[in-house]
Amino acid sequence: MDSLSNSPYVLIFPFPVQGHVSCMLKLAELLCLSGVNVTFLNSDIIHHRLLRYTYVVSRFSRYSGFRFETISDGLPPDHPRSGITGNRVVDIFDSIKMVTKPMFREMLLPGGCLNCGSRPPVSSAIADGIMCFTIDVAKEMGIPVFLFRTVSASCFWAFYCIPKLIEFGDLPIKEDDEMDRFVTGVTGMEKYLRLRDLPSFCRAIDLSDRAFQVITSETQETHRANGLILNTFEDLEESALAQIRKHIPNLYAIGPLHAHLKSRLTSPLRSSNSLWEEDRTCMTWLDEQAQKSVIYVSFGSMAMLSREELIELWYGLVNSKKNFLWVVRPNSVAGDGQNIPAELLEGTMKRGYMVRWAPQEEVLAHPSIGGFLTHSGWNSTLESIVAAVPMICWPYYADQQVNSRQMEDVTISLPPLIVVFPSPIQWPVNTMFDLAELLCLSGLHVTFLLTPFTNTLLIRHFNVESRLNPYPIIRHLQR
Ligand code: UDP
Repeated sequence: MDSLSNSPYVLIFPFPVQGHVSCMLKLAELLCLSGVNVTFLNSDIIHHRLLRYTYVVSRFSRYSGFRFETISDGLPPDHPRSGITGNRVVDIFDSIKMVTKPMFREMLLPGGCLNCGSRPPVSSAIADGIMCFTIDVAKEMGIPVFLFRTVSASCFWAFYCIPKLIEFGDLPIKEDDEMDRFVTGVTGMEKYLRLRDLPSFCRAIDLSDRAFQVITSETQETHRANGLILNTFEDLEESALAQIRKHIPNLYAIGPLHAHLKSRLTSPLRSSNSLWEEDRTCMTWLDEQAQKSVIYVSFGSMAMLSREELIELWYGLVNSKKNFLWVVRPNSVAGDGQNIPAELLEGTMKRGYMVRWAPQEEVLAHPSIGGFLTHSGWNSTLESIVAAVPMICWPYYADQQVNSRQMEDVTISLPPLIVVFPSPIQWPVNTMFDLAELLCLSGLHVTFLLTPFTNTLLIRHFNVESRLNPYPIIRHLQR
């Protein structure tokens, strides 16, 4: 009680889908590492799935100030929460607002499980930004509440501008051939954002569509919270962040969370909070491939493919004659496993490797990865940027259209790049390498200039390959 009672006590409450939960768990872990007490309020269903992966649970058991609590999402057990489409997200949203909200309130009342026993009272809450009902409950209890949105700043800004998009006649989109017209209603993005790049909810012909309405109204309510937290960084989304700040001054761009976490953990690459079992055999397969020879293909945790799309993509990959590592989640394809043409199976045997779920952050950091065919989910986008892997974007829905346009059009300036240039003798190289590693641990990108001779020395005597792998160090060989 004593050591816990001196530190702030934060309640974190994510919307119960994989992308939101795993991202907010990263935030929770970073807070724990900074000595903050955290209670993570998970839906029963998500928590049950998380418990299957003992490495996640045992990682969090290291933090004495951390605990999980659970709450019902209000849906019947047989509701198909996974394989989510816009409508199913709306089902979860409606049920949480109706059933979970009163439970959440009870839990926060004196004597409720979030406000009793050996723990100090909750001093602030960080709630998912698409659950604005938490603002009302927290205000009633006198607790400051910060909203966390898992989307990019650009996507949030596009959502925020929806009323303007309607006022300026951008929405509803009337004709298909309008799609390449630039939007007029999103200040700061008029030069590159086309109607087709707006979040997919904006394609609703009928503006009374529930998904469209939910996202619009939740975003408009953000300013009622004490602040907004985004998993992005200033150098990447400076202009969108500046626009949002005019309306929501308490805006915190604290990303990329996974990179901050990696630099703080002693075993940096095991920061995954996956709700699926990772198939690590693909790492051995990657070890056998040539440098930058493999295209990694993954469409995240929710996108569903039709059988036609699967086959078309498969032909594309096999005919590209490139090696590929492809994540095909169970039940993510309609008519899964039926009559796959023999030439595709043969092509995959030669150059491909398929898994149901990969340790994605590790995969992207692997030297044999040369590109990422992605659905442009925001977490995948950030992970690819940090690993410096070029992306081919195939946006599917929700925020993915905005993200992919941004990656195509906006120049990314990565965090400051430091060049370490040691003299070409053995000992300074070794010491300078220690310095480079320290800089990397502080989140900087480092280029290390070497002669071929000193490079060989480093590899032979100091086992640098395994030390280098986790960091964004670029080795540059000098003549
Ligand atoms: N991911 C993973 N293994 C996979 C596929 C995805 O660990 O085989 C992780 C990925 O690293 C990312 C998340 O799942 O952190 C997907 O999030 P994103 O925002 O990219 O897409 P969403 O799932 O929300 O559509």
